Amino acid sequence: MSITTSKDFYRILGVSEDAGKDEIRKAYRKLAKRHHPDANAGNPEAAERFKEIGEAYSVLSNDEKRQQYDQMRKYGGFDPRASRAQGRPGQAGSEAFSFDDLGGLGDIFSSIFDRGRRRTEGFERRGPRRGQDVKFAVEISLKTAVKGGKISIEVPITEECTTCSGSGARPGSGLRSCVECGGSGTVSFGQGGFAVNRPCPACMGRGAVPEALCTSCGGGGQLQQKRKLQVTVPAGVDTGSKLRLTGQGARGESGGSPGDLILTFQVKPHSFFRRKGLDIHVTIPINVAQAILGSKVKVRTVHGSHAVLTIPPGTQSGTRFRIAGQGVTKDGRTGNQYVEVKVETPESMPEEGREKIREFAEVTGMRY
Ligand SMILES: [Zn+2]
Ligand SMILES: [Zn+2]
Repeated sequence: MSITTSKDFYRILGVSEDAGKDEIRKAYRKLAKRHHPDANAGNPEAAERFKEIGEAYSVLSNDEKRQQYDQMRKYGGFDPRASRAQGRPGQAGSEAFSFDDLGGLGDIFSSIFDRGRRRTEGFERRGPRRGQDVKFAVEISLKTAVKGGKISIEVPITEECTTCSGSGARPGSGLRSCVECGGSGTVSFGQGGFAVNRPCPACMGRGAVPEALCTSCGGGGQLQQKRKLQVTVPAGVDTGSKLRLTGQGARGESGGSPGDLILTFQVKPHSFFRRKGLDIHVTIPINVAQAILGSKVKVRTVHGSHAVLTIPPGTQSGTRFRIAGQGVTKDGRTGNQYVEVKVETPESMPEEGREKIREFAEVTGMRY
């Protein structure tokens, strides 16, 4: 089961088991001074030793923690020889010994090594846990939104690292108490009655840091993966529509089922078609002759076909026509396509044409 707790804090400080508080403090000060990183620049061993000393002192200088630690030792769970003899490294003794067996005595170690955020293997026997749901926004074309179809997506999914089961520790190594917060997982800000406890930034509130970092995840306990998926988009989706893909979320833990992938669609704007609910709106230009004399024009529909629209003589710019049933179909309902015409005035005209327009104006009594 443990990990750092197999360390002999008394031996680390070089004191006997019945050493008094003063003796412990003196031993700690002496050792801390000797191994302080400032006095041992560039010496990683000294830094390690310094942390170890801090860890030992944080436990032995606290009456409550020390008492519980002593009881742990007495129960045999943290005899270094015993725990090394059992099981593989890093999981030493996990089968033979459980914190659960100790009842409340495990508190100190759960407070030191497990703040409940992350699992540290063996400290807690958790049942299967369902993986997290993953949310992802997908941009699709209007055509796909309307007609549906298959698309390929690549979803970034952050999952617990399988190598270290999320602890961030290299398999075979363990956790040690965080020096920054003395293993409590929290640090205080402010003074006296105004002190506020915050999660320790060095250990992310866990109270413990890995002795050696997992090489797969670099100690973060998580891995970001890209999952390539073929997704069938149902016809009729719109911006904001969601699609839940069961079991495509993050992997479950301890044999738990995976979470779901929840896609939110974002429909790309189209240069011609505009969508409003089930209806499709377009604007087309017509010329002056078409507006005056009437015409038949071909209009593209969102379904890829063409509809023939009859423009009656004397049509005003801005008039809207309806092409029935050429909108979006969803849940058994189908919208329409609306066509707004915009009369375009020629920007240039040969003199002959201008002469005809003058005649036209005379005939119809238009002033110009
Ligand atoms: Zn890892
Ligand atoms: Zn900490």
